[in-house]
Amino acid sequence: MKKLLLLSTGGTIASMPTKNGLAPAADTGAILQYLPPLDDLCTLSIQEVFNIDSTNFQPEHWLALAQRIQENYDQYDGFIVTHGTDTMAYTAAALSYLIQTPQKPIILTGSQKPIFAPITDAKKNLLDSIRFACKEGVCGVYIVFDGKAIVGTRARKVRSKSYSAFESINYPVAAFIDDKRILRYVDIEPEGEKLHFYNKLHPKVFLLKLIPGINPEILRYIGQHYDAIVIESYGVGGIPFHNSRNFLQEVEQLSKQGKLVVITTQVMLEGSDAETYEVGARAIQQYNALQAYDMTVEAAVVKLMWILGQTRDTQGMQKLFYTPVHHDLLS
Ligand code: ASP
Repeated sequence: MKKLLLLSTGGTIASMPTKNGLAPAADTGAILQYLPPLDDLCTLSIQEVFNIDSTNFQPEHWLALAQRIQENYDQYDGFIVTHGTDTMAYTAAALSYLIQTPQKPIILTGSQKPIFAPITDAKKNLLDSIRFACKEGVCGVYIVFDGKAIVGTRARKVRSKSYSAFESINYPVAAFIDDKRILRYVDIEPEGEKLHFYNKLHPKVFLLKLIPGINPEILRYIGQHYDAIVIESYGVGGIPFHNSRNFLQEVEQLSKQGKLVVITTQVMLEGSDAETYEVGARAIQQYNALQAYDMTVEAAVVKLMWILGQTRDTQGMQKLFYTPVHHDLLS
């Protein structure tokens, strides 16, 4: 029988109504009382790591969570992390970079309704997560939600209220989980040879969403405070250089200062292909910008935090950015 550790961090799944709206309840152990019968599936222990709304999650929380998994890694066959849905995709990406090629499952889940509510998705999500974690051969970081297992670097919250809160972006859903079966569509094999825990992140990464009319001087300010800038541009990716608002001069200055500039897109599906048009090609070929291709924005920003924690050598950073980790990049 598998031995799983449930690490609770708060979120709606563990929330109760208060006079200020839903907030994580004090007794997280109570989650277990609401769990449907596990039969002979596994034994489950619980540890509370945090008890917060995931809106309050910070890179320090990701590091602490990864450390808790590391401390317990040898004692358990897999890990379930209960987490708020709002920033779950970022945490899933963070754990994917901080814990590379684990031979055990690390499953994040949560719910749109509290587990204590009469009508809730929490029990199903939790049970699905446990069943998926117990499935032979499942290893690595996933979000399990609404009957789907999504690779940790590929998730995005796309619905703020419905049970189907998450989609897998630019990558197939790894498995569908129903009452009776788990259908795996992607056979996930560990990519590297050896389990590696990382314990450093550098959070000075900025995400700038372009809108027509935005003043390029903002990049000067960002450059004074951040070491990597992801520009969420349009379509397949481009940087405005019209005379009235020319971003390329600022991008040039940033790359001269050793800052990483990464072009991604506001379009949710299919990713960037920034050398298609002059607006993107110039930024890439003349001003050293990188592009995120099919990576999610969540994965790209967290990957940069991980990279900046490892090296400041420009070529080293670029190489790491384009090196796939846990299926984050196909191109
Ligand atoms: N605000 C909550 C959180 O992210 C929402 C949820 O869990 O669904 O913690």
